[in-house]
Amino acid sequence: MASPRPLIACEHCASIFRRHELAPGEVASCGRCGTTLWRYSGLTLGGWLALALTAAIVFMIANAYPVAKMQVQGMEQQASLLDALTVTWQQQHWVVALMTGAAGFALPMTQLALLLWVLYPLSRGRLPPAFRFCMRLLGLLRPWCMVPVFMLGVLVAVVKLSGMASVQPGFGLAGFALLTILLTMLGRLSPHTLWRYAEDTGVVHAHVPQERQGEILTGCHVCGQVQAVALADPEALHRCHRCDAPLHLRKPDHLARTWALLISAAVFYIPANVLPVMSIDSLLGDSAHTILGGVIELWQMGSWDLATIVFVASVLVPLTKLLSLAALALFIQFGNTSNLRQRTRLYTMVEFIGQWSMLDVFVVILLAALANFHGLMEISAAPGAAAFGTVVILTMLAAMSFDPRRGWDMEAAGTQIADRAPPSGVEQISAGVDGRGVR
Ligand SMILES: [Zn+2]
Ligand SMILES: [Zn+2]
Repeated sequence: MASPRPLIACEHCASIFRRHELAPGEVASCGRCGTTLWRYSGLTLGGWLALALTAAIVFMIANAYPVAKMQVQGMEQQASLLDALTVTWQQQHWVVALMTGAAGFALPMTQLALLLWVLYPLSRGRLPPAFRFCMRLLGLLRPWCMVPVFMLGVLVAVVKLSGMASVQPGFGLAGFALLTILLTMLGRLSPHTLWRYAEDTGVVHAHVPQERQGEILTGCHVCGQVQAVALADPEALHRCHRCDAPLHLRKPDHLARTWALLISAAVFYIPANVLPVMSIDSLLGDSAHTILGGVIELWQMGSWDLATIVFVASVLVPLTKLLSLAALALFIQFGNTSNLRQRTRLYTMVEFIGQWSMLDVFVVILLAALANFHGLMEISAAPGAAAFGTVVILTMLAAMSFDPRRGWDMEAAGTQIADRAPPSGVEQISAGVDGRGVR
């Protein structure tokens, strides 16, 4: 008899499913909460390797050439991402330089290096050295890679400066545009997916656990391996037996942590909007610019499209994240189990939009690097930029601390879900801490 197919856990509602083959174009989604569990991929490991290799080359090209060029009174200034980071560092805005340097350069570079490191041996049918460590690292840094946000930042910076001087996009911008597409495709390669590839190629043993008395099946957050864990204390610390990552049945103190991070983010949201994010020193005088001031400026320049994008990314997105997470936490606090599917969708949306509010911080460092004509015109970051970046980081951490499975646990405690039809390609095994033993 063939060995049973591996199990997969839904990250948002804790249901356990058995993994089946998908047909081209098919997506397996959780029948309980609607979260996408996995998708069909036509690419082989060799195909992914080629994609990662192309992305690595494009990454080097994109960073080697300036993304934009600016001319003022016969003087020319051009800037790449690394120039922008250097200028910001020299202007002593260390926090802003570190945030943008990590999100725009260091972490995406590490992500590509890790992918190449594991994809080459995997495509040859071998287990990559330090595979467990690499996958844990990849899982940690993936949410913080923000190349697409930087790419949009370049466009906004070019339009903003075109009001003051002659600005042209550089060759590096084309590189970043291509890199954005490649990295978005490679974004599908989560540690879960790579572990599944390793299972499918046979370099990793597929383990299918059995639930015993007093235990419950749960998925490792990092590698996706489903394993049986003692049910006694849902917040107790275990170790994933496959990748050794810390494993909790439910995130510990999730409401306290989420609230603490949300309140800190709300506190930083005030200086982020009240304080200027950049200052301009020019022959015409000095001026300071806030986020909202920048939006109005873009609008008055006639770039209503970019003004809308910046307004959405910098004002609406952080506010939406703060309010949505607060509402989600309040629902759980008061034991409300209504509209769980919509609430899960809202949480997925908050996770997805997380990084886009970093847009204005990237715009500021680019402006600082381009408009850097000593004595004539100088732009530099201002305290609001660091506060703004801090809001982005804190709201992303708050979203990561929140555990949407808690809402489903409450619902499962009161209802029987055995009659729910499993989604295509999967077979439901059990659901949640209290809704056990469905099949
Ligand atoms: Zn689910
Ligand atoms: Zn694991």
